[in-house]
Amino acid sequence: MDCLFCKIINKEIPAEIVFEDEQVIAFNDINPQAPHHVLVIPKKHIATTNEITDQDTALVGRMHQAAAEIAAERGFATEGYRAVMNCNSHGGQTVYHIHLHLLGGKALGWPPYTDTLKQPV
Ligand code: AMP
Ligand code: ZN
Repeated sequence: MDCLFCKIINKEIPAEIVFEDEQVIAFNDINPQAPHHVLVIPKKHIATTNEITDQDTALVGRMHQAAAEIAAERGFATEGYRAVMNCNSHGGQTVYHIHLHLLGGKALGWPPYTDTLKQPV
C-alpha cells in the first residue's frame, strides 16, 4: 500500500518518533504549526475518520489518551492543547491515514480555519 504513514510505521521512512506502543505511534510533524506539533496515528491503516468502525473505537480512544500522555510528558497538559483530526478535502486532510494532530505550547486561535484547500500528498 502506498501510504506515507504506513511507511513511517514500518520504518521505511524516517520520522522523529516520540511515542510507540502496540496500537499507536507518534512523531513530530515535519511542518510544525505550534511549538509542539505531534501526530498520533494508529498502526492499523484507516484512510479517513469516515472509515472508523465499531472495531476501532478503543483504538481511537487510545490515540486521544496517548496525545494527553505526550502533552503531560512535555509539560503543557495543564495549560492545554488542541487535538484534532482533519477529514477529506474540506477538513484539510492531505495524508489519507488518520492522524490526531496534537498542538500545544502556545495559545491557539479559534476558529482555526482558513478558506484555503490543501493538496493531498
Ligand atoms: P493533514 O493535512 O491533516 O492530513 O496533516 C498531515 C500532516 O502530516 C501535516 O501537518 C504535514 O506537515 C505532516 N507530514 C507530512 N509528511 C510528513 C512526514 N514525512 N513526517 C512528519 N509529518 C509529515
Ligand atoms: Zn497507512
